Amino acid sequence: MTRLVNSFSYSHSRGELFRECPRRYWFARYGGWGGWERSADPVTREIYRLTKLSNRYLWTGHHVHDRVERLVARIAEKGPLPPEEEERKALLDTLRREYAHSRRDRSGQNPARKGFWGLLEHEGRDFSISDAEWKPLVDRAGESLGGFYRSWVLPELLAVDPSEILDRDAELRTALLEVDGLEVPVHMKIDLAYRVSDGTVRVVDWKTGRPGSPDEHVSQLALYAWYYGRERGVPVDRILLGPVYLAYRPEKAELQSISSGSVDAVLAETLTTIREILSCIDDPVLGVARKERFPVTSRSFNCRDCPFRAFCPDRPRPPASRSDDNAAELASF
Ligand code: SF4
Repeated sequence: MTRLVNSFSYSHSRGELFRECPRRYWFARYGGWGGWERSADPVTREIYRLTKLSNRYLWTGHHVHDRVERLVARIAEKGPLPPEEEERKALLDTLRREYAHSRRDRSGQNPARKGFWGLLEHEGRDFSISDAEWKPLVDRAGESLGGFYRSWVLPELLAVDPSEILDRDAELRTALLEVDGLEVPVHMKIDLAYRVSDGTVRVVDWKTGRPGSPDEHVSQLALYAWYYGRERGVPVDRILLGPVYLAYRPEKAELQSISSGSVDAVLAETLTTIREILSCIDDPVLGVARKERFPVTSRSFNCRDCPFRAFCPDRPRPPASRSDDNAAELASF
């Protein structure tokens, strides 16, 4: 049987993970590698299971994206959209089923769906939240899905020819970036891209969270613009990009153009991050990386939602009291 090789690749979220804590990046990318095999040692097996856990925000966001992707697929097939209430009920049923599975089954076996082994919040005291905190999350997921039906994007999408829907979160897109002689696959999942009648390509990133600063997503979106230019031949000046906040009104800042200078600047930052990651890895092609070469974060704040804490004795310790911790974190900005 062919053996899988953990060769190096990059995505915006992996870069963010490395920036947050290189050691956590190691756990996520290398520590659990092979943990699915019968012969794996118990620690590797457990780290692998932890890499498969979701947290409540990623989990609800995943299901909203999944249902929106199916709705866009219907539009692309020129089929009728199901009523909003039907979709919201299906979403709620899925969330209830997976929540129950996560709470019940801590064996790490038989995931409720491919890639979902449970919720971090069900891992025990440090991660748990009160029952009252679940309901607003689920309500917001429903609001987000309903937001798609009321979005300014929907009428535009219904008006374009299906062949002009270029991306809908269905496939992983990859472009190669050369870094010091190594061809690094850069992966991205593009939520939605479509071409309107004047030839402009609109790239939309669905958000289920609260709107943040206008520049918050620039580096992620600039990578999409780079991909479209390089792999699909769309000039940067023919692209408009932006987040669409499905559960909030107003749902958008207007989609923005991006200059080639900004794309170049983000690519330069990406190269720097990739070089830093590669400097920790022994063999990026064969996937050899030693834990001790990946330093732990200096900020205990970053450890709060880290699933690997039990395997990380070197992690920074928070100050004695929570209020002191918060003060220290604020002072470090
Ligand atoms: S516990 Fe903290 S230091 Fe350790 S891997 Fe997680 S985030 Fe990094």
